[in-house]
Amino acid sequence: MKAAVVNKEHIVDIVDKNIRELKYGEALLKMEYCGVCHTDLHVKNGHYGDKTGVTLGHEGIGVVTQVGEGVSSLKVGDRASVAWFFEGCGHCEYCITGRETFCREVKNAGYTVDGGMAEECIVVADYAVKVPEGLDPAAASSITCAGVTTYKAIKVSNVQAGQWVAIYGMGGLGNLALQYAKNVFNAKVIAIDVNDAQLDFAKELGADVVINPSTQDTQQLIMQHTKNGAHAAVVTAVAKAAFNSAVDCVRAGARVVAVGLPPEAMSLNIPRLVLDGIEVVGSLVGTRKDLQEAFQFALEGKVVPTVKKRSLKEINSIFSEMEQGKIKGRMVIDFNA
Ligand code: NAD
Ligand code: ZN
Ligand code: ZN
Repeated sequence: MKAAVVNKEHIVDIVDKNIRELKYGEALLKMEYCGVCHTDLHVKNGHYGDKTGVTLGHEGIGVVTQVGEGVSSLKVGDRASVAWFFEGCGHCEYCITGRETFCREVKNAGYTVDGGMAEECIVVADYAVKVPEGLDPAAASSITCAGVTTYKAIKVSNVQAGQWVAIYGMGGLGNLALQYAKNVFNAKVIAIDVNDAQLDFAKELGADVVINPSTQDTQQLIMQHTKNGAHAAVVTAVAKAAFNSAVDCVRAGARVVAVGLPPEAMSLNIPRLVLDGIEVVGSLVGTRKDLQEAFQFALEGKVVPTVKKRSLKEINSIFSEMEQGKIKGRMVIDFNA
């Protein structure tokens, strides 16, 4: 079967890989779709270590064709997901307290184990969240990472109905963050991106205010609209400037939720943190329960991913388009094609 595999030169090769026998508790998926997340780009580029040989992909959706011994949570014909949170140990302090994505022995699809950017993928049945019937599988692929990550990040931000949340980055994650914030949490959204096309997209999706930091004064505009600053910020942008700006643009007592993963450090003004009680917290994808909830809101039509179907052989061009910031919504590899 064909798989998108990272090579030493940080290019993706389409290679033939053999699928091994299923072990206890595993299931085999015939993949339908796999979205291309910016994290795949970081992984391919070696930003978090050398990943030569791994099959990418953690926005995968496929149909079960075979189940191993001991599997009761999936059956042949079910549609299930391949998410970044691929498997936890099930017994560490994080796994048993609802924070399983921080499991110290976690396995991540398309990073520590082969992911969903392949014609077939082995999953651990108890960790592969089922896709609800009636949800379009291409849309479901976007929810599997971009959707659940931003849904969770808005939860973590503690923003309340009627309050302002500043969302930095309007790419694959940001446009869904906007939709969850507005249509599920009833917050008011300030959308911030350095690319005007992404801001037009944000307006189509109902952003209350849009700001382009390359031509406008973000802090001044946010203060103007919110009086004392946003009640929360969620940063999906892949640039440290956005993280620094978020700390400046929230009001006292607010949370800044870090989601984007540029491999660099942000600056934190200590008196600003202390005197204004600003919290800066990281948020990593979401639990299996978060993903079930995120799927449900997509099924109800509250969140509608914008996806463009592409073929597996286009993967390297998709990464260049992503680097150039040319993608609206998500590019999704279509394995039915
Ligand atoms: P993307 O490329 O689709 O979107 C990034 C957006 O950020 C683009 O629209 C770009 O124009 C915008 N941007 C760049 N610089 C900016 C700046 N200075 N200010 C405002 N906007 C700016 O990427 P994506 O798939 O949405 O992923 C975003 C980031 O989130 C990546 O770093 C990815 O690795 C990370 N991520 C984190 C998690 C998590 O669990 N925390 C999950 C998935 C992805
Ligand atoms: Zn992702
Ligand atoms: Zn654990």
